Amino acid sequence: MKFSTLCLHAGVTPDPSNGAIMTPIFQTSTYVQPELGKNLGYEYSRTDNPTRAALQESIATLEGGKFGLCFSSGMGAIDCLIATLSSGDHVLSGDDVYGGTFRIFKYVREKQGIASDFIDLTNLDLVEKSITPKTKWIWLETPTNPLLKLVDIAAIVKIAHAKGVKVAVDNTFATPYFQQPLALGADLVMHSVTKYFNGHSDVVMGSIVTSDEELYMKLKYIQNACGAVPGPMDCFLTLRGIKTLAVRMERHQANAAILAKDIEMGPHVNWVRYPGLKSHPQQALAMKQMSGFAGMISFELKGGLEAARKFVSGLHLFALAESLGGVESLCDHPAIMTHATIPRDLREKLGVTDGLIRLSVGLEDVDDLRQDLQNGFAKLK
Ligand SMILES: *Cc1c(COP(=O)(O)O)cnc(C)c1O
Repeated sequence: MKFSTLCLHAGVTPDPSNGAIMTPIFQTSTYVQPELGKNLGYEYSRTDNPTRAALQESIATLEGGKFGLCFSSGMGAIDCLIATLSSGDHVLSGDDVYGGTFRIFKYVREKQGIASDFIDLTNLDLVEKSITPKTKWIWLETPTNPLLKLVDIAAIVKIAHAKGVKVAVDNTFATPYFQQPLALGADLVMHSVTKYFNGHSDVVMGSIVTSDEELYMKLKYIQNACGAVPGPMDCFLTLRGIKTLAVRMERHQANAAILAKDIEMGPHVNWVRYPGLKSHPQQALAMKQMSGFAGMISFELKGGLEAARKFVSGLHLFALAESLGGVESLCDHPAIMTHATIPRDLREKLGVTDGLIRLSVGLEDVDDLRQDLQNGFAKLK
């Protein structure tokens, strides 16, 4: 079956007891067991819950993987992978990643003995040199947040696998509709389901998908042991959100492509990054590993923080808020908002400057969004 069909049908079947076409919200903590030592497949909802099971299968299928696990947040999903490691192990991560990813590795787990380095994964020589005998995983995000740099998944997999290192991809920005890391050789795909997967800004959730059964068994054990599981209501809402994933992603992309060109032609920016723009430094890689470019755009305003303040004050439809990937358009100032935990010198070295603006382009009529951006830029005149 094709992707759009799977969005509707993967993981879900009519309820056998009454035919309900939509997976019910199994709002229960426990399950009655017919006799000692026998159960009907479920014992306790931290371990397993039917609404969650349907969602996990749906997400796994859409990512082209065998096994899916959902967590109470994207960070909960990342932490589950970290919990498979032992003191002394090392993780090599991209340097342009979600601020919370940097925070959990550097400030939470490193003092417990899991070492991490953050490097430019577009420099393949550096990747090769930075793998140590202790390195267990390469963690990569592509497109990256917030600079929309691309990392060559297949090339990283080749280097990593030759040294016995596994590769995890945070696929939050592209979604499996536009990019399928497992098919490119990655061992694990992680999502902040909070973003495009659920897509309606009403749930915080994370997921992991893998086809490696041994790894899955470890992760599943930790999911139950550590307990960062999502509730059934959130799983239901996400199952509902996924039904429109394909059509939403098409519209996010169509709107973003138009806005990215508009911004690029205007006089107020130093540069615009959108993987679908010809000016993107890695257009060739974008065409190779993605089938589309989603709805995230970043650009640097001339005039730094002062210009950023004026620009956002002129916006009405683009709401000033963290997060991304929802149906409505959002505007983020990474240096002050989403990426404030990254030390200033490192942030600026990466290009997350005070003039940087990140847009999550929603599903509104594109004419209204164009007008809104023009109102923002008008404040800079
Ligand atoms: C939001 C985000 C996360 C963290 O996910 P939460 O659901 O907020 O815990 C991780 N990676 C990326 C790329 C994100 O955008």
